[in-house]
Formats: sequence, structure tokens, C-alpha cells
Amino acid sequence: MAQHFDYICLGAGSGGIASANRAAMRGAKVLLIEAQHVGGTCVNVGCVPKKVMWYGAQVAEALHLYAKDYGFDVSVNKFDWNTLVDSREAYIERIHGSYDRGLAANGVTLVRGFGKFVDSRTIEVNGEQYTADHILVATGGSPTIPNIPGAEHGIDSNGFFALREQPKRVAVIGAGYIAVELAGVLQALGSETHLFVRKHAPLRNFDPMLSQALVDIMAEEGPQLHTNSTPESVIKNLDGSITLKLENGTSYEVDCLIWAIGRQPATANIGLENTQVQLNERGYIITDEQQNTTDKGIYCVGDIMAGGVELTPVAVKAGRLLSERLFNGMTNAKMDYTVIPTVVFSHPPIGTMGLTEPEAKAQYGEDKVKVYSSTFTSMYTAVTAHRQPCKMKLICAGENEVVVGIHGIGFAMDEILQGFGVAMKMGATKADFDAVVAIHPTGAEEFVTLR
Ligand code: NDP
Repeated sequence: MAQHFDYICLGAGSGGIASANRAAMRGAKVLLIEAQHVGGTCVNVGCVPKKVMWYGAQVAEALHLYAKDYGFDVSVNKFDWNTLVDSREAYIERIHGSYDRGLAANGVTLVRGFGKFVDSRTIEVNGEQYTADHILVATGGSPTIPNIPGAEHGIDSNGFFALREQPKRVAVIGAGYIAVELAGVLQALGSETHLFVRKHAPLRNFDPMLSQALVDIMAEEGPQLHTNSTPESVIKNLDGSITLKLENGTSYEVDCLIWAIGRQPATANIGLENTQVQLNERGYIITDEQQNTTDKGIYCVGDIMAGGVELTPVAVKAGRLLSERLFNGMTNAKMDYTVIPTVVFSHPPIGTMGLTEPEAKAQYGEDKVKVYSSTFTSMYTAVTAHRQPCKMKLICAGENEVVVGIHGIGFAMDEILQGFGVAMKMGATKADFDAVVAIHPTGAEEFVTLR
């Protein structure tokens, strides 16, 4: 006979774990099902290992670019990729342990195996059936590989994290977060790195200042950016190298090719055809604003949600709010998918929130938008021969100059944005920003001293 739960969460990634724990804290009997590693993409093949590699790249830059002018006579004998990977994986193991302890402490039952819907109330995993009044689908996504000849000779971001040897020459294909982040890490750690984007720039949907500044910095520091470069085919050579052929007739030989052209939802194979859950044309689950799917009692959060925002903290917040609604009487609880701060761990990092300048002008009218911006050299780099620019921008709308967009690229921007995010979410105006005393000397102070 099927074992019954109040709540089943299918997928123990960021959204599933957060929702399961919160539901259990509110007294629900919860089953969490995971086919691979607890922690999902973020912990195992996403944010966490990426950030560790990014920190490794920061260390490399400190040693190679900045140490000398700070007076250190450093000679680096070698960089051992595997040591960094081992440290990273040991850290991830500790996170697994802490997740397991957290789930156990909250009384969440964890079953490892591939779960499938048998019907709208029943999930089968490892031949056992489990039923629940409420079921959350939080199965996340996976990297997309293009449909061109030889594409299988490339790896994706999962393959990047499995690399046990640092590639000497790498081609990264794509123009979004992952392409920019992985290319930056590889470049800083010493691989000859080429970034191929099919249009005029990477991150072209970000504020133009960010995208252009990144292009300018790449021209100085690498990786080598190849614009208007659409892959046509990939060939594996007898010596193990890879040739990337582009539609524009050029070709490049590398040792490793990484596809970073977007991700797709993991909605196939989980038995959704046995439910009333509707998908959009790209396989994402359609939900309303309270995470309800089209099948009553089945919910969805995270990267598989149609029209969602593919960021870990978004899945976490949506998952927790859903549990507060289902098991804590907060009937109106719902995720606010607008005005979300986000960071790209590029070199240097980018922080961005709210409208880009073109979006603000389109929404409010050109004459209702005032833009304040600043360009300066980060002090960390200014005292060295390797000077690196910081660029910051506030976009304000209407008579009161409400801040509707905040964007920056430069040293420490990854840590600067969060606090300003609180202000923006509260509806801060330019005058509110100006009313704050600057913290000197920091990069962040620019945002409260813009003229
Ligand atoms: P994105 O969707 O962000 O970017 C992929 C880009 O690659 C597209 O926008 C497109 O840009 C380009 N592209 C698409 N198809 C092709 C193709 N066939 N050939 C060449 N280029 C192509 O995907 P990512 O994989 O970078 O990341 C997925 C999501 O994960 C992100 O949107 C983000 O939400 C999340 N993420 C967040 C991180 C963070 O918070 N720091 C880090 C990593 C991921 P164009 O149209 O300009 O060519």
C-alpha cells in the first residue's frame, strides 16, 4: 500500500529542499525525492562550485596582476587544478552533510531515486508508491547542447565541473551568465580562452553600460572575444584536439569546447502526462502567481517554471512561501518575481537590479528618466600597473526620481548590490540615496554620491 504524506517534493535542489524544510517546520509530514545529489544544480554543478572556481581565479589574479605592486616578490611554481577541484568537492561534501542534518532535524523523509507521477496524487520511486495531498515539482533543468554536427565533442557546465585536467586551449560558446563566468575563470587560471558569441556582445540583454564595459575589459584582459560567431560544426581530431567551425567560415582549434548556450527544463520523463499539469511549448510548467500548476494540488517552483527567473534564491523564496501558504495559513503568500538583484561572477563582477536604461526609457518615456553614472578606477587596482575600471549607474524615473535600475561592474560589485537591493525594493528615490553618508573609501560609496 502506498505510504501517505502531506507533501511530496520532487527534486532536492534549492527550491525543493527549501520548501520541504519549511513545510516540515510548519508540522507537515514531508517526503523529499532526489535522483542525484541533494542540493541540485546550485550546490553540485552550479553556483557553489562556480563561486569556488571564481575565488580561485581571484587568487590567481592577485598573484599575477597585483601582488608585485603591493610589494610582494611572488614566484608561483605551479597551479594545480586538481587541488582546487579537491578543495571544492570537499566543501560540497560538507554542504551535503549539512543539508542531510537539516532535513533530518526537521523530520523530512529523504528518498533517493528517480520519481515519476503515476497519477496526480501518486509518485513512484524505486518501485514504491507514495501519495500526498500536495506535490511540488522542483526538478530543475539541464544544459542545452545545440543540434549541429559534432556537438557531442563539446562538454557543458556539468562537464566543466568534472574536468580533472585544466584545458590548455578552450572555446566557450554562449553569451549568458554561464559562458561569461566560465570563460573568465578559465582565462584567469591560465587557459588560453576564447569566448564565442553569435551576436555583437555577451550579456547583450543587460544594461548596455555593463555589456560594453565587459567587452572593453575583455579586450584588455581576455578572454579573447569572438563576436558574430555562430558555431556550424565541431570536429574531433586524431590528436584529441577539437576544431570549431563557424558559420562565418573561420575555424579554431582548441583542446576543450564548452557549450553554455542556455538551459532546458527537466520536465520530460517525470510522468507529467499522467497528470493535468500543462507545459508551454518549450517544456516549462505553466503556473499561476501562487505556484499552482493547472492540476490542483500540484505546484512548481524553480528553473522549470514558465516565465520564472532561473536563480537559486528565487526558487528558495518561492518554495518557502509556498509552504507558508499550504501549511501555515498564509493564504495570500506569493513570490514577487519583479525587481530581483543578481550578480554575474565575471571578471570583474557585475551587479544589476531593475530596469536597464533602454527598458526604463521605453516604460516611462525618455524625458521622465534621469540617469546618473560614474566611471572610476577601483582603488585595489589603481595602485598597481594593472588598472581596472569600475562603472556604476543609477536609473531614476519620474519627478521624485524613484530608483528603477541600479547597475555596476567592477571590483567588489558582487558584494555591493545586496544592501542597495533592500533600498530599491522599498522604493528608494535618488534623494534617499543622497541622504546616506558615504562609507569612505569604498566602491559602494559612488552610489550615494552620484551627480
Ligand atoms: P542564458 O540563457 O543566460 O544565456 C545563454 C545565451 O547563449 C543566450 O542568451 C544566447 O545569447 C546564447 N545562445 C543561445 N543559443 C545559442 C546557440 N545556439 N549558439 C550560440 N549562442 C547561443 O543561459 P546560461 O546557460 O548562461 O544560464 C542559464 C541561467 O542560469 C541564467 O539565465 C541564469 O538565470 C542562471 N545562472 C545564474 C548565475 C548567477 O546568478 N551568477 C550563474 C549561472 C547561471 P545571444 O542571443 O546573445 O546569442
